[in-house]
Amino acid sequence: MTTLAFLGLGAMGDPMAAHVTRHARQGGHRAQVWNRTASRAHAHAQAHGSEVASLEQAAQADVIFTCLPTSAQVDEVLTVMEAHLKAGAVWVDCTSGHPQAAAAQGQRLAARGVTLLDAPVSGGTGGAQAGTLTVMVGGPADALEAVRPHLAFAGKVVHVGQGGAGFAVKAVNNALLGAALWATGEGLAVLSRVGVDLHAALDVINASSGRSNASQNLIGQRVLTREFPATFALGLLAKDAGIAADLTGSVQGSAPLLAQTAALLRAAEHLIGADEDHTAALKLIEQMNRTELN
Ligand code: NDP
Repeated sequence: MTTLAFLGLGAMGDPMAAHVTRHARQGGHRAQVWNRTASRAHAHAQAHGSEVASLEQAAQADVIFTCLPTSAQVDEVLTVMEAHLKAGAVWVDCTSGHPQAAAAQGQRLAARGVTLLDAPVSGGTGGAQAGTLTVMVGGPADALEAVRPHLAFAGKVVHVGQGGAGFAVKAVNNALLGAALWATGEGLAVLSRVGVDLHAALDVINASSGRSNASQNLIGQRVLTREFPATFALGLLAKDAGIAADLTGSVQGSAPLLAQTAALLRAAEHLIGADEDHTAALKLIEQMNRTELN
């Protein structure tokens, strides 16, 4: 029997772990969950039939999933689990982590006979609930093939390269999300000052070449409605754009637009709030332009 352990039952991890648990129950495997705030793990067990485990117990699993805010929290749980790990296991880190952390963690795990896959996800909480997430995987291809049947939360799985490549692709993807979101917010703020109706403007942009996920989904659903539902924290998007900026530095690259995006999102995180939804970054643009996007 294969034991699958899922650590971190947050906005993404909780529904992802539900899919892993359903898959485990159907396939005759064992599904364990752990969460820092234990009540969430108990609620998960009650709702989905998973088993609550300690970190030491979860360390004995054959496949360990993590979905934590940053690589720093993955380091913390790894430190507790390290001595208890089982050789031959695969650790699938679904955190949007840092490529440098993946290198160091991969070495620590290799010393225990455990293989690390960096496997961040895209698709938001809706995709996690639907089990249609895109997973970008870095690390050994044979380890991915071994765990692929257990990626029950995925709609699309792409092997993007060696260790750290998954985190790199995720960071760049989210820097692009941030850039499109920010630029569209600026454009709409200007149009608002001009006196154009923003619903009409978005209608046009969404049928024209300036459209993006930000214009087609995020701004209409979250900003113009003034709802800003907190499903993906601004602090996490700022973290991702910061990783893309770090990555640029690590290869002595030149990506000034991505660097600006990281700096603007960091400013919005400080001024608007890390726990606000990422679309609330546009409240800073509103302040800069003395207008409201509604
Ligand atoms: P949440 O803030 O909703 O959940 C974070 C989880 O990490 C919780 O289970 C929390 O436990 C746990 N945690 C926090 N600090 C620690 C710690 N020091 N030690 C152990 N556990 C800790 O985050 P999300 O689920 O939104 O995001 C998780 C990852 O997925 C991030 O890397 C994010 O960038 C990425 N992501 C998020 C998306 C989204 O739409 N939200 C989309 C795609 C990727 P506790 O319950 O105790 O607080």
